[in-house]
Amino acid sequence: MTKTTKKTFSILLGALVLLMSLSICFVSFAAEESGGCGSGLTWTYNDASRTLTISGNGVMNDYTSYGARPWNSFCSDILKIKIENGVKKIGDYAFQYCNAITKIELPDSLESIGNFAFYSCHALVSVTCGSGLKTIGNYAFSDCYALVSINIPDSVESIGNYAFNYCTSLPSLTIGDGCIGIGSNAFWYSGLKDVVLGKNVQVIGQSAFSYCKLINVTMYNQVESIGQYAFSYQNDSSASIISHVYYHGTEVEKNEIQFGADNEPLLNAEWHYISDEPVHTHAYTATITKAATCSAKGVKTFACTCGDSYTEDIPLDPTNHVHTENRSGLAATCTETGYTAGVYCTDCGKWVSGHATVAIDNTNHAALDANGNCPRCGKHVKDVEKPAEPTTQPNNEPSEKELNFFERLIQMILNFFAKLFGR
Ligand SMILES: [Zn+2]
Ligand SMILES: [Zn+2]
Ligand SMILES: [Zn+2]
Repeated sequence: MTKTTKKTFSILLGALVLLMSLSICFVSFAAEESGGCGSGLTWTYNDASRTLTISGNGVMNDYTSYGARPWNSFCSDILKIKIENGVKKIGDYAFQYCNAITKIELPDSLESIGNFAFYSCHALVSVTCGSGLKTIGNYAFSDCYALVSINIPDSVESIGNYAFNYCTSLPSLTIGDGCIGIGSNAFWYSGLKDVVLGKNVQVIGQSAFSYCKLINVTMYNQVESIGQYAFSYQNDSSASIISHVYYHGTEVEKNEIQFGADNEPLLNAEWHYISDEPVHTHAYTATITKAATCSAKGVKTFACTCGDSYTEDIPLDPTNHVHTENRSGLAATCTETGYTAGVYCTDCGKWVSGHATVAIDNTNHAALDANGNCPRCGKHVKDVEKPAEPTTQPNNEPSEKELNFFERLIQMILNFFAKLFGR
């Protein structure tokens, strides 16, 4: 090889290398600019603002690993991820290891966050979920150890296994009222000190809150089962105890929860039983349940719609006579007044009507004595003629009485014979 040939060759080689590298650079730059990432969805990356925008209307692909994402080669450069309204799902592994993003706002259209979607996003501090979110996948925010704040709206129905495990900076969380199940290990080794479980949480998975720093736990009477180790190993101390459980329900309801083994830190906490019944002010309606009579007190009952009631006596009613009868009057006499007939109450012993006093009757004397005096008033009423001395004459004639007897006897005999002879 001559020197010239050598030089020409090296120039050619250099040009080729330059061309190749330029074309690679161009191709790769063009591929990273934009593309599809699901049915109806596109992604665009703005290199200057280091912003990845997902737009369109649809569901993002579930990637089988983080290497399969279109933006994987520059995922660590992404400062900001903008997910526009219309996106319904963030696919599995979509933003795993996007270590530069610090905050993300999810649109109301988003219904689902896939498995491992934000796994190990080590700079992620704040997540705002939209009002349409229903499911948070397994490991969705696992190992986001800088995460300080996230809201779980009422629309969220379930939180996946390991969804927030190793979120060691997360101090507190209120889970929305739509959530029914919390996956196993969901908050395992998180920094939670306070957690409020939504009103409808029924199932808490195994180890869901173990190795947290829980001091206060609020839960409702919908909880049916708590998995083994769900609240074990708190506070990194051998004491390992939760201070307070604010239980919206009764102690009876609490005792119906199926507690898995190894939940002593929860069971040994101080349980406060909170009633959510609205404060009720009694409003009583009075009813006369027993009327008062002349001889018996009545009863007035005051009842509230809640079932509470009390009674009060009604004083005697001197005009309400129940058992009455007509009684005859009493004639006045020469010494005593009388009274008219009327109606008498046998309950109270009082006259209801009539019973007017009749003045002394100077003519109504008792049977007179032999001298014509009234033994009652002592007055002389009438002169009595002394009967004449009886004349004692023997009398053989049958008396009127005797005569009548004989006449009747004869008639009876005549009748007897008349019957006997058939006349
Ligand atoms: Zn009441
Ligand atoms: Zn009476
Ligand atoms: Zn008299």
